[in-house]
Amino acid sequence: SSAEAGLYTSSDQIVLLNAGNLESVLFNSTSAFLVEFYASWCGHCMAFAPVWKSLARDVKEWKPAVDLAAIDCADEGNRMTCSSFGIRGYPTVKFFHAYTKSSSKGQPFKVSSHDVRTLRRQIIYMMETHEESWPPACPPLETASKAEIDNFFETNSVDYLALVFERVNSYVGREVTLDLLQYENIAVRRVLSTEDGLVSKMGVTDFPSCYLYYPNGNFSRLNVQIEARTFYSYALQRLPGVVRAGKPQPVVPDVVDNTTGQQWLPFNRGKALTDLKRYISVLVKYFPGRPVVKNLLQSVEAWLLGLEDTEVSYSSLLSVLENTAEVPNAVLPEGVRWVACQGSQPHFRGYPCSVWTLFHVLTVQAMNTRGAGPQEVLQAMRGYVRSFFGCRECASHFENMAAESMDSVRTLSAAALWLWSRHNRVNNRLAGALSEDPLFPKIQWPPPELCPSCHGVKLSGEHTWKQERVLAFLKEHFSSDRILLDYLE
Ligand code: FAD
Repeated sequence: SSAEAGLYTSSDQIVLLNAGNLESVLFNSTSAFLVEFYASWCGHCMAFAPVWKSLARDVKEWKPAVDLAAIDCADEGNRMTCSSFGIRGYPTVKFFHAYTKSSSKGQPFKVSSHDVRTLRRQIIYMMETHEESWPPACPPLETASKAEIDNFFETNSVDYLALVFERVNSYVGREVTLDLLQYENIAVRRVLSTEDGLVSKMGVTDFPSCYLYYPNGNFSRLNVQIEARTFYSYALQRLPGVVRAGKPQPVVPDVVDNTTGQQWLPFNRGKALTDLKRYISVLVKYFPGRPVVKNLLQSVEAWLLGLEDTEVSYSSLLSVLENTAEVPNAVLPEGVRWVACQGSQPHFRGYPCSVWTLFHVLTVQAMNTRGAGPQEVLQAMRGYVRSFFGCRECASHFENMAAESMDSVRTLSAAALWLWSRHNRVNNRLAGALSEDPLFPKIQWPPPELCPSCHGVKLSGEHTWKQERVLAFLKEHFSSDRILLDYLE
């Protein structure tokens, strides 16, 4: 299909357009759209694709107001559609305001830079200056006056009004407003440093800085490590009572009873057996479990290596698991009780959370014990996901990411960081999804409160990860001596 041949996949935060869906997606939509018309063979387009993807991840929360899309004009089936928009060269980006009529060819959006921050601000500029319909989901982006703030709670029933005080040329207030677009119980407004009444009332001295204003008239400064967009958004999205729209308030049950019985796939195919062997050997080498579990893994490995068949049945594996134990049934417990991956409801977290956690532990163990090489654990995980991970959609997204860059990972620490950054991509994609536990929101991890030194800003004010600190944090967080082994004893 065109989606697969093109430069984007469904794993990106980009709406994949084609001749068949373009009209229904773009026209009369409640959100604005930026559409990249590209040709999959064009070198400039290949160079631009990573920019378009990271821009889409960066403004993911803005979707109800403005969304990003792409169409491959090199696909035979899309050629007429692209030419009907007057596309002459690739890539061309066009802006379609909310409720665009089907006769429209869109407005030009000049890609002035490959810098995500510049492009993001250009989007805001485009939103603010176009004259047609404002997307209904989009809050006002203009600056607020003292009068508006004084009367705010008369007409708005939210728990917090966040005020971003800033200078006229700063975009932080508008960016944070859009970042909070999908959250309830909070509103964000930007206030200019020249708004003397408010500035003196609240005693504001730093620009930018963020204040929380409460319905009872009290206010307090928002405490962040660095006065910048990402830090404000992290902090505001996680204030008590602030929830993503449509998400219930979290309820924590007393007893967690989760035996979701993840479906096992048959693995009596050559490839799957190889994947199983590789995975078990990696567990034998790096899984920092209880000694009895390690022994069990070793027996399973020995059995698998001694097999002459190219096929095994699940029941024979099961009987090895049960019969090689010194004390039958004492090694692996009946049923499952999630500890680190306990969710606020039985259908949250659990198995997939434990898979991620285990993978991180394995990459960190390989690093801490100077394992055989960066590909060993990564490829074993990849094979496990490919052959055994019951969520097939997850597996295909993961395989997309692996195919993109896993093979070029060269060191053990790069392997741990690769997994960390890909997991964050998945978190970005899943934020707000049905499977998100409201008590454990999908955030870019670790958040500043867990690892302050992992976060920094560039001179431009743009958020940046300090990868060395992230690495040190991963080493510590997923190290074997932090794992409690005595839950069953
Ligand atoms: P998880 O995302 O499972 O994370 C577990 C724990 O790891 C967190 O609690 C946190 O302590 C830590 N953590 C979080 N982020 C990072 C990071 N970047 N680096 C290191 N540690 C971190 N679900 C879907 O709906 N669609 C999918 O396409 C999909 N793909 C998946 C692919 C794979 C390979 C896996 C293992 C899972 C996938 N899932 C998918 C499930 C989803 O990612 C979560 O595992 C699930 O929703 C449970 O989320 P959680 O809140 O428990 O945290």
